[in-house]
Amino acid sequence: MNPYQNALTQLKCAQKILNFDDNIFRILSEPKRILEVAIPVKMDDGSIKVFKGFRSQFNDARGPFKGGIRFHPRVSRDEVKALSMWMTWKCAILDLPLGGSKGGVVVDPKKLSSRELEELSRGYIRAIYKYLGQDQDVPAPDVYTNAEIMAWMLDEYEKLIGHHEPAMITGKPLSLGGSRGRDIATALGAYYIITETVKRKKIIPKNTRVIIQGAGNAGSNLAILLSKDGFKIIAMADSKGGVLNPKGLNVKNLLARKEKNGTVLDFEGAKNIKSNKFLEIPCDILVPAALENVITRKNARKIKTKFIFEVANGPVVPEADSILFKRKIEVVPDILTNAGGVTVSYFEQVQGAQNYYWEEKEVFQKLEKKMKEAYLAVLSLAEKYKTDMRTGALILALLRVIEAMKKEAGSKNFKTNLYKKKLELKIPFN
Ligand code: GLU
Repeated sequence: MNPYQNALTQLKCAQKILNFDDNIFRILSEPKRILEVAIPVKMDDGSIKVFKGFRSQFNDARGPFKGGIRFHPRVSRDEVKALSMWMTWKCAILDLPLGGSKGGVVVDPKKLSSRELEELSRGYIRAIYKYLGQDQDVPAPDVYTNAEIMAWMLDEYEKLIGHHEPAMITGKPLSLGGSRGRDIATALGAYYIITETVKRKKIIPKNTRVIIQGAGNAGSNLAILLSKDGFKIIAMADSKGGVLNPKGLNVKNLLARKEKNGTVLDFEGAKNIKSNKFLEIPCDILVPAALENVITRKNARKIKTKFIFEVANGPVVPEADSILFKRKIEVVPDILTNAGGVTVSYFEQVQGAQNYYWEEKEVFQKLEKKMKEAYLAVLSLAEKYKTDMRTGALILALLRVIEAMKKEAGSKNFKTNLYKKKLELKIPFN
């Protein structure tokens, strides 16, 4: 259940279909650079604690590295490697002129005071700032990081370089050059993907039961968007457990309660559900919106749903993918479903670099167009190669990334069998 091994297994699977040679596979298996740093922080009690941080810069053939920073006790070298590989695919699928990276610090931020958290965020930037920048590597929020943390990081970076550079980080507060709509962009992107699926499959929202694992930024905003359209959100979970009401939860009240009590548990009119049983609740749409590796060989047969939309990164492991594919459960992969976040991050970077900011309507229209195009391109490749949507998405990403690598290196250096057999290189919408 190592996410990096999972990412490699997915890559291998796409290689079998695309038939690109092992040299390319080897290049695409490892990050171009991985930084491992120690960040000392003076704690409120006067002691010094040293936190471990990583930044994995996976591939930048298509543009500067791009990807979030996660603060979580389970962060590891292999986790950031996998996440940075997935960022590379995600940016390529959305046709953003960006590569992929990811950072992380091994910490439980809930146990830090606000001052300690700020120290840690600034210390992380001091440790790696030489490798960041709008033309080099552009961080953003991820699990347990937010706009406030991005603001500290930007400030630290600008102090070090001695001038403004708002496009070096995204997901910032609006007052520091953030983009309108970035706060709900991951959820909104997933909502557009779900809406396209609903149209394609002629699904009626009010007859559709949805369960969402994760009540963070993406999970809670998606619950609000879907419930406005009449979908029945019957269950939601956070890190402490879940709640179920088969008639549908009042999402607004539930989230207000979560805000106040720190958990969704014990919600009026709903039954508490243990975390390990949550994903097995019968439903029509299942949305894992928390962490990786939650749908495995062990529970894939017990899942009772028609669609899985991966809002988290890496929630379904490869073994589960093949079980679900055989069971005809459609898994719409993370590298497509949750790409709304990085897409608006890209818009934020463009706006910051130009020092010209767009209205919210413009951001949403552009996001909707990008998400729909990517969805249709992935779908057509999955249908063409008779595979699941994850492999379809990977094929699209690889065609674009390999093409850029080929151009970058010059055909002379890359002529050794890029493809073992001739490929149809026609990419939809290119
Ligand atoms: N952390 C988000 C992701 O995994 C957003 C990354 C970004 O905006 O750069 O896609």
